[in-house]
Amino acid sequence: MQVIIVGAGQAGAALAAKLRALGHQGPITMIGDEPSPPYQRPPLSKAYLLGEMDAERLWLRAPDFWADQNITLKLGTPVTSLDTVSQTVTVGDETLPYDALALTTGSTPRRLPAAIGGQLPGVYTVRTLADVDAMRAEFTAGRRVVIVGGGYIGLEAAAVGAKLGLDVTVLEMAPRILQRVASPETSTYFRDLHASHGVKIMESTGLDRLLGETRVTGARLSDGREIPADFIIVGVGITPNTGIAEAAGIALDNGIATDAKGRTSAANVWSAGDCASFPWKGGRLRLEAVGNAIDQAEVVAENIMGAGKDYIAAPWFWSDQYDCKLQIAGLNTGYDRIITRKGEGEAVSFWYYHGNTLLALDAMNDARAYMVGKRLIETGKSPDPTAIADPATNLKALLK
Ligand code: FAD
Repeated sequence: MQVIIVGAGQAGAALAAKLRALGHQGPITMIGDEPSPPYQRPPLSKAYLLGEMDAERLWLRAPDFWADQNITLKLGTPVTSLDTVSQTVTVGDETLPYDALALTTGSTPRRLPAAIGGQLPGVYTVRTLADVDAMRAEFTAGRRVVIVGGGYIGLEAAAVGAKLGLDVTVLEMAPRILQRVASPETSTYFRDLHASHGVKIMESTGLDRLLGETRVTGARLSDGREIPADFIIVGVGITPNTGIAEAAGIALDNGIATDAKGRTSAANVWSAGDCASFPWKGGRLRLEAVGNAIDQAEVVAENIMGAGKDYIAAPWFWSDQYDCKLQIAGLNTGYDRIITRKGEGEAVSFWYYHGNTLLALDAMNDARAYMVGKRLIETGKSPDPTAIADPATNLKALLK
């Protein structure tokens, strides 16, 4: 069985490795449009941007792993089309046949429209190694950066900027940073953290347009004020890479629509990672996280091998800003109250409940709360919220 994987990122790498681990003997070809071997993205807005990590440490596998495993990597070249009838993909001037195809194409950051200056030199997004290498020289002390969007990636870039001595402003159109993904308590925690490092966070403040003729020089805000900037980082979300699937007539629904097993609407075509949406609690879900990319890809590998297994997502995520490690378990959609739990020292966690049902938690520098909360959520247990709030409660005992 000839397996082709389109997209040599987190999900593609996990899928290829898992297929071999499961004993797949046939050819595996993984095609990626980026020139680098499969690498992890999280450090791009953290240690790598800070200059504390070499590119080699981003690689998901040692360079000789792929040849050792007899996995053919075709890098720096996109798959431009897919024919689900003849079961072939086109790469450059080659047409490659497949028996099973996995689309692990990831996502693309939204950019600002050219009409408001989005194309000006000095405007960056943070997705690829090349993006970060291109912006790194800008990160020198005393320079002014305006970050458009107060989500996790924008805030991580803000933390790096502040640590390196830049003058950092974050613009957030919504009333609070992290509004789309977190509770007001979590937003307040990070607003205060950034303020304590000198970052200016401007909430309920949209961008009217970027300023500059040949290069960006500043930003005009929705209230008419103009602020100077030496460069701009845009962190306003991503869109799933669905182009080749859509052109091939594969069903989309907030990404490439899969069933619980990771199958798309086309025979022998599978999908996983940022680009794929899957059934979840009566609706559909698409996650943008490393844990999901790996777990879903591995289930797809098992199913390509005939396991017939459903993917049951157990969402988790993390973010590093300054000395704070945020760990998130579960999905907070539908929460109606937040329980705050103080841990040891600076540790604190916010627990999302709907009624008496625990949905998710955000743990700041509190690995124990995170581990227990994650386990509770995965096993469907919901401790009494008053027990969670009481610092005297032994969290591990709640797991029994
Ligand atoms: P990717 O890793 O993006 O891989 C997809 C690959 O497919 C890309 O190389 C893409 O260029 C390629 N591709 C697309 N179309 C084609 C084509 N037609 N032909 C060939 N190749 C193609 N997640 C966390 O859980 N925690 C974090 O702290 C965290 N931090 C992050 C920080 C940053 C800066 C970024 C950008 C992401 C972060 N994420 C984090 C998200 C995480 O990295 C993604 O969810 C994960 O990489 C998704 O894996 P993927 O394989 O679906 O996509």
